[in-house]
Amino acid sequence: MKYIELDDPRSLPDGAIADDALFSFDCNPGVSCFNRCCHNLNLFLYPYDVIRLKQHLGLSSDQFLERHVDVVLRDGCFFPEVLLSMSETSEKPCPFLSPSGCSVYPHRPEACRMFPVEQGLVYDAKTRQNRKIHFFKPPEFCQGTTDGKQWTPSAWIKDQGAEDYNRMTQRWSELIRLFRSDPWAGEGPGGKRGKMAFMAAYNMDAFREFVFKSSFLKRYRIASAHLDKVRGDDVELLKFGLAWIALFIWGKPSPLLKPR
Ligand code: SF4
Ligand code: SF4
Repeated sequence: MKYIELDDPRSLPDGAIADDALFSFDCNPGVSCFNRCCHNLNLFLYPYDVIRLKQHLGLSSDQFLERHVDVVLRDGCFFPEVLLSMSETSEKPCPFLSPSGCSVYPHRPEACRMFPVEQGLVYDAKTRQNRKIHFFKPPEFCQGTTDGKQWTPSAWIKDQGAEDYNRMTQRWSELIRLFRSDPWAGEGPGGKRGKMAFMAAYNMDAFREFVFKSSFLKRYRIASAHLDKVRGDDVELLKFGLAWIALFIWGKPSPLLKPR
């Protein structure tokens, strides 16, 4: 999901499809291009993707990040993000690709779920509201568009089980929008504050240790009911982490926590 700037935020950017637009799509193991789209990808993993995959694979956050991602800084963004590392064989397949298809299918990342639809957010500075927009972008070799069932973007999202992913990524995108300005005061995202913010977004195991085993709770006040939730639930901890980053780095208040 990316932010799109438009002179008229009510218009549709190039290539976007209307909310009620219909497109034909059907992907199945019988297509001649089966699995071709799972090679040599720049596949960004959002924080919720990392949680879903590391839980499914039975890995700690550290193990998952060490084995499966490259950390990158995108142009125009001052927060590091993570790309899924492709296998190092000549065709660079996704590490989760098996001969019969995706081996992590129920927990596949948002970009894979949505494919070949992409989602963006248009920010209207006047109303301070975001509007979701969609693009239908199958690669040229994709055979899934020739026949098949017809979908609107929302029917596709529902069918692919992408709703929770979309909700979490929207929270993430709203935070990332702030990082189009540099908050690091010369130390860069690799400095101490940047590393802590990265941990709160991508490394739930380390962030949980930090919240419960450092002086964190002496410095921030958190409602006890909410504290119980974040203690045992990675997704609640991620929501909390995103709010903490906005407060810690940008001074944005949150109902989830307050400085003491
Ligand atoms: S996670 Fe699954 S669907 Fe996504 S690229 Fe890898 S194999 Fe393909
Ligand atoms: S390229 Fe299109 S039809 Fe082929 S496997 Fe990928 S999504 Fe399915």
